[in-house]
Amino acid sequence: MSGAERPVGPVDSTRIPRYAGPATFAQLPRADQVPSTDVAVLGVPFDSGVSYRPGARFGPSHIRTASKLLRPYNPALDVSPFAVQQVVDAGDLAVNPFDIGEAVATIEAAARGFAADGVKLLTLGGDHTIALPLLRAVHAEHGPIGVVHFDAHLDTWDTYFGEPTTHGTPFRRASEEGLLDPARCLHVGIRGPLYTSDDLAQDGVLGFQVIRADDYETGTVASLVAKARHRLGDGPVYVSVDIDVLDPAHAPGTGTPEAGGLTSRELLHTLRGLVGLDIVGADLVEVSPPYDHAEITGIAAAHVAYELLSVLARNRAAD
Ligand code: MN
Ligand code: MN
Repeated sequence: MSGAERPVGPVDSTRIPRYAGPATFAQLPRADQVPSTDVAVLGVPFDSGVSYRPGARFGPSHIRTASKLLRPYNPALDVSPFAVQQVVDAGDLAVNPFDIGEAVATIEAAARGFAADGVKLLTLGGDHTIALPLLRAVHAEHGPIGVVHFDAHLDTWDTYFGEPTTHGTPFRRASEEGLLDPARCLHVGIRGPLYTSDDLAQDGVLGFQVIRADDYETGTVASLVAKARHRLGDGPVYVSVDIDVLDPAHAPGTGTPEAGGLTSRELLHTLRGLVGLDIVGADLVEVSPPYDHAEITGIAAAHVAYELLSVLARNRAAD
């Protein structure tokens, strides 16, 4: 966005009821309604990479619906995320549900197109497969990327049924391809049973540290944020949030739920702690509306997206 223009914000919900108005994220303008864009919220309705429950292809529209209640000022970070940067809803990407390779190529090409226009992406999945092409695109622009990956699961497994590109494998593929800075990656929220005791050892070789969900029981959120920031350092950082990082009580609508997860308050607080890091992109994945109840998962996801946009806004305001 050039200097003279003021961002076009959400529809004024004191004049148009929230349940009316556009179906965009947070009732923001569409990309084609503004002259230029700083941050685009992009839906990728793709769930052909899941190993258990499907349904994340309906995630973007569900998150958008749940985002109608968001308001323009974030007191926790003292920022108006839609006033200091032009945020738009870029709609959904049409990806092939029958061909994972083609879908991944479509996502990477689209992400590179946004990057070429100077637009940062907050991508709404979709299953976690989509993180791989998104990381390829940010790597093409920035070189090796630090990753903070919020998830119950490592997502560094090798293959399922011989398939290397799935929602359980994106960070192994990314590490193998050299997309990641192996000194600056970590998972947050890991818990639950693994296949073997070697899973964690292999994960470490690929470049990841782990903050376990249980660490939220024994440490403070502030101490965990400090540990994460130390690990992520000063270089470019990609934020990937699998909604199953939350306990199923806070996010039942997801594909591979695990007991003993974070509360939404812990996750939002941790995300706010990322202010000041060089965040080059983010995704929010694995929201599966058919398993949701009373919009619990959708509301949590809408707030996660809002906090991520607020962190980007704070960073921009500090530039
Ligand atoms: Mn997961
Ligand atoms: Mn995942």
